[in-house]
Amino acid sequence: MHLDDIRARIARAETAAGRAPGSVTLIAVSKLQPPERVRAVLDAGQRCFGENRVQEAAGKWPDWCAEFDGVDLHLVGPLQTNKARQAMEMFSTIHTLDRPKLARTLARLAQELGRCPALFVQVNTGAEAQKAGVLPADADALITEARALDLPVAGVMCIPPVDEDPLPHFRLLRAIGTRNGLDGLSMGMSDDFETAIAEGATHVRVGSALFGARAT
Ligand SMILES: *Cc1c(COP(=O)(O)O)cnc(C)c1O
Repeated sequence: MHLDDIRARIARAETAAGRAPGSVTLIAVSKLQPPERVRAVLDAGQRCFGENRVQEAAGKWPDWCAEFDGVDLHLVGPLQTNKARQAMEMFSTIHTLDRPKLARTLARLAQELGRCPALFVQVNTGAEAQKAGVLPADADALITEARALDLPVAGVMCIPPVDEDPLPHFRLLRAIGTRNGLDGLSMGMSDDFETAIAEGATHVRVGSALFGARAT
């Protein structure tokens, strides 16, 4: 468990970028991790966690949420509309709003529930066929549509292609956020979170570098 090390690296990257200490939120991505590793990170004081499947999160987090105060869960994986209600009840933040239909479903449920998680619009910066996210050219329209539905859009999110330099993807995402007046930038994972912080990330999503390799 490398929590202290990851926190120290985030702090150094914040300082190097001339950013305020604590301006970056560490999301500990606990998907597919053995429970004892997650518990160790909880015991060490981490409270913000990311999961990429609603079902998996629903199976393991209720007990920990009852045991540890202040747990803050973020959904970082694709969301099907039929899981939207469950996701809205469990997660403080959803990083994967990527299509108009999902925006309309979230808006309807927000009316019903009287609240809505903070939302990040996921952008498929590499335009990869197999990857979720709105295409960069369609991002402004989706953000506009989500806002017109009164959804709380907090920022934008991306997952760069695995074997490419992430830097141009982080810059593209930041440009999309800036031109839409959005402050939140969810970008940077185990291999590149320091680069993402240098480019303005407000939320980094770190899994394997923190917990160790995942079961597959
Ligand atoms: C799994 C996952 C992460 C964490 O990946 P690591 O490389 O293990 O840090 C971050 N973001 C998303 C969307 C993920 O699915």
